Amino acid sequence: MKNYKLLTPGPLTTTDTVKEQMLFDHCTWDDDYKQITQEIRRKLLALAHVSEEEYTCVLMQGSGTFGVESVLTSSVGPEDGLLIAANGAYGLRMADIAKHAGLHYKLYNEDYDQVPSAEKIAELLKENPEITHVSMVHSETTSGILNDIAAVAEVVKKAGRIFIVDAMSSFGGVDIPVAELGIDFIISSANKCIQGVPGFSFIICRRDRLMECEGKARSLSLDLYDQWKTMEKDGKWRFTSPTHVVLAFAQALREMEKEGGIAARHERYAQNNRLLIERMGEMGIHPYIREHQGPIITTFFYPENRHFSFEEMYTYIKERGYAIYPGKVTDADTFRIGNIGEIYREDIEKLCEIVKEFLAEKKQEEEA
Ligand SMILES: *Cc1c(COP(=O)(O)O)cnc(C)c1O
Repeated sequence: MKNYKLLTPGPLTTTDTVKEQMLFDHCTWDDDYKQITQEIRRKLLALAHVSEEEYTCVLMQGSGTFGVESVLTSSVGPEDGLLIAANGAYGLRMADIAKHAGLHYKLYNEDYDQVPSAEKIAELLKENPEITHVSMVHSETTSGILNDIAAVAEVVKKAGRIFIVDAMSSFGGVDIPVAELGIDFIISSANKCIQGVPGFSFIICRRDRLMECEGKARSLSLDLYDQWKTMEKDGKWRFTSPTHVVLAFAQALREMEKEGGIAARHERYAQNNRLLIERMGEMGIHPYIREHQGPIITTFFYPENRHFSFEEMYTYIKERGYAIYPGKVTDADTFRIGNIGEIYREDIEKLCEIVKEFLAEKKQEEEA
C-alpha cells in the first residue's frame, strides 16, 4: 500500500521511532512495565503544571471518548446535575454520554462558530442551583475553534462547581495551566498532540474530587476511581493494558521533551496553521472560523463555484501523499485539514501545491 501522511487530528502521523517501540511484546506484570506506566503518569502531571500532592493521573483503555465517558459517569452522581456547554459534535457527544447513563444534565448549545460564553454559563449556574458540575471542550475538533476555558473556569470556580474539560485535541499542543485554572478533571488521549498511537486516554484529576467518585460509577470497566486505585498501588492497569501503545506513548513523550516541550510543539503547530490558512486564502479557500481559530485543525469552505466532490479532491491528494478530512459542521459545505502530528512546513507547502494543481486541473476540465 502506498504510504501517506495524515492531516487528520488523530490518529495522526507519528515518527518511525514511536512506531518501532511496538515491535516488542512487553510483559504486563513485571516491575519494568509498571515503572513505564508510572513514569508516563508523572510526566503527564508535569505537562499539566500540577503537583502530585494535589492532582493525580489515570490512564484508561480505549479511545478518547472512553476517557470522557469514564469521567462523566464516575463523577456525576445520582444527586448531581451536569451543565454541558457545547459548540460542536464533541460537546454534543458529552450530552449523548449523559443521556445513555441517565445523568441529570442541562445542555447549553452554542453556534459552531462561536465560543461558549462565560457570562451565559455564570447566569445558568445562578438560575440552576441543582447544577454541581460543568463540562466543555477546549479545542472543538468539529470546527477547529479554541474555546476560552480560562474565562469559563473563572465563573465555574467562583460558583463553587466542579469543572470538567475535554482537552482531547489540545493537550500537549496548547499549554494549559490546569492547577491555576482550577480544572478538576481534564481528559486527553494517546493519539493526539503527544503524537502516540490510539489505544488509551488519560485523565488528570484533582485528588479530592477523585476520592468523591468512589462507588459512584455507572460502569465497571470505566470506573475512574477503581482504575486509579489499582494503578496507584504500583502502576498495574486494572484490566489488560494496551502494552504496545503504552511503549509507543513513552517514546512519544521522550520525543516531545526533545523537541522542546509544549512551547516548541505549540509553535510548530501554530506556524503550520498560519501558513496553511495563508496559502489556502491565496487560492480563494477561506476558514469557517473567523474568531478563535485554534492551531490544531482548520475547517475550510469549498472555493466558490466548485465542480468537484470531496471524494474527488480527497483521492487526488491521497494519491500524492496526504490524507485530509471531510467537514463536520452542520450548517455549511466544508472540509478540514489538521496540522498536528509529525507535520512540518514542507508538508503544508506540498499540500497547498497539490490543492493548487487540483484546482487548476478542474478549471481546465470545465473550460474544455
Ligand atoms: C478526538 C476527540 C475526542 C475523542 O474521540 P475518539 O474518537 O473517541 O478518540 C473527543 N473530543 C475531542 C474534542 C476530540 O478531538
